[in-house]
Amino acid sequence: MPNSLIDQNKYDGEDVKIALSVMSTGCKCVYCERLLPKLDELNTHDIRAIEHFYPKKLYPLQKFKWSNLFWVCKNCNSTKLNYDTQNNPFVHPENDDPEDYFEYDYSHQIKVNKFSPNEEKNKNTIERTMGKRVLEITWGSVILFQFQMFEIDLEKNLKKYERSTKQNTKLKYLKQILGVIQDLKIFANDEKEYAGRRRFLIRQSLVIKAITQEINHHQTELGLSEPFTWVW
Ligand SMILES: [Zn+2]
Repeated sequence: MPNSLIDQNKYDGEDVKIALSVMSTGCKCVYCERLLPKLDELNTHDIRAIEHFYPKKLYPLQKFKWSNLFWVCKNCNSTKLNYDTQNNPFVHPENDDPEDYFEYDYSHQIKVNKFSPNEEKNKNTIERTMGKRVLEITWGSVILFQFQMFEIDLEKNLKKYERSTKQNTKLKYLKQILGVIQDLKIFANDEKEYAGRRRFLIRQSLVIKAITQEINHHQTELGLSEPFTWVW
């Protein structure tokens, strides 16, 4: 734990910032997944803020508590402000899996997942942080475009695979597909900005569903030691 927290000196000391940067995957806002500048990339427009999950104003004992601190963007930080997360259910960046709670629509808006374990928790979190995601439509479109390029490539190879009759040719196409699939997995890994949205697109795709089945059907011939899964 950083010294300035142990001494209860500063919650935003340089040592705290360094420790948080090292901890945070890909240095993203834990709520909206916007990419935050790393410590060595800081410029005059620092959009980073240190977030107290349980607001320090309402819960002073939480002010220097390491487990209560997260990197977020200033937008989410100022929207959430002193919202009482102790008495109102709220999606916790570490203890909850955001993918159980959120999904997206094609206009890039974030929505309550229809299988959400706790709808109130969803609504509070969206209202107090991620509502700002609507501002990120440009980014949403870029991600969608990149995803569609992958999907087109996969569909093309899937058709070739389905049309070919020789076992060897079929396997050749499947191997090409597997290569694209592996790139697609990187496209949505934890370090990527808006990984939640990227994974949502992958899960929704019927082409990818069909392809995953084919791959696992030929798992041994493809030299895979275990079935391919979309888990990150
Ligand atoms: Zn944010």
